[in-house]
Amino acid sequence: MQGLYIHIPFCKKKCRYCDFVSFPALEREDLYFVALVAEMRKYAPLMKDRAFDTVFIGGGTPTVLKPGRTAALLNEARKCFSIKPEAEITSEANPESASEEKLNELYEAGVNRLSLGLQSANDLELHAIGRIHSRQDFINAVSAARKVGFTNINADVMHGLPGQTEESCIDTLRLVTELEIPHISSYSLILEEGTPLYDDVRNGRVMLPDPDDTADMEDAGFEFLAQRGYARYEISNFAKPGFECRHNLNYWDNGEYLGIGLNSHSALRLKGDWTRFNNTDDLNEYINELGEGKLPVRNTRKIERDEEMFETIMLGLRKIKGVSRREFEERFGCDPVEKYAPAVSELEMDGWLEATEDSMYLTKRGLDFQNEALIKFMEQ
Ligand code: SF4
Repeated sequence: MQGLYIHIPFCKKKCRYCDFVSFPALEREDLYFVALVAEMRKYAPLMKDRAFDTVFIGGGTPTVLKPGRTAALLNEARKCFSIKPEAEITSEANPESASEEKLNELYEAGVNRLSLGLQSANDLELHAIGRIHSRQDFINAVSAARKVGFTNINADVMHGLPGQTEESCIDTLRLVTELEIPHISSYSLILEEGTPLYDDVRNGRVMLPDPDDTADMEDAGFEFLAQRGYARYEISNFAKPGFECRHNLNYWDNGEYLGIGLNSHSALRLKGDWTRFNNTDDLNEYINELGEGKLPVRNTRKIERDEEMFETIMLGLRKIKGVSRREFEERFGCDPVEKYAPAVSELEMDGWLEATEDSMYLTKRGLDFQNEALIKFMEQ
């Protein structure tokens, strides 16, 4: 599998918890678009023998772009790269800017999966984290998405928000499931240093739920989703059958991807070497360097085989079905259960991991202690 990621770093307003590379600088959109196109054109020769299975336009908020921009971006991507006809093409969207007109543009441009950042269906919780949309905006966005033809829709939700209770957390999931959204990404709020929410919490102006209460919300939420037919296929991701996100599955399979845009990351096999690199996270540098005909790449790193193997385990164990023994052996010429035998047997004894003929995967308890489990593999 090969994935193409395109980053749109603009948002109308910064959310209070967000430390992503995104900012309200829409006046730079035109220059940024020119730079994105230049970057894709520069990568075209390198990618000429590859075909992308997925495209993901993420952010930021891709739906804040000017009318016609997403279509132009995808047209340019199709000119520069080979994108398979059956490719999954996702765009993220904020419910507030996901108008019927905007969604229709995405759909007509070939976007076939929509990812809506809901986070919570409770307006007080949304206000507390600085989201600019309401519960009703989300309902309207889903209705508009369906009207223009989207069937493959994701909703991002969060638990552990200021003022959130188990009841309100379930109420959010109830809305999403009643609207028959087939994919749900459910994350715990992470308090990132340097964000306004971090300062508010540190200064006692905002209280977060107790960590035990947040863990209870998570358990209750996951149980609620299971009862409604959503299969947990990755630590934080749930889907109705056939709606798993192929783009993210490629990341968890440690597959190849090319990132275009500010601070985007790439992993490609180049001349036989597994290689990771990323772009600058400085908007001026990004625009200026591409303007001068240079790729704004930083931190190019050749990954040694042992590290590539560990990465494949680390990412693969995020999936509920775990790491395929056959695929691992095809890629590295050795069986992961044998290669990591001491770690595997210790984790099996603790009840954190199971190995079958086909795969090795973390148990429910192992998933709760994923980092500790990975340390055993790393120590080997
Ligand atoms: S919409 Fe997303 S990317 Fe933009 S500020 Fe909010 S959390 Fe960050």
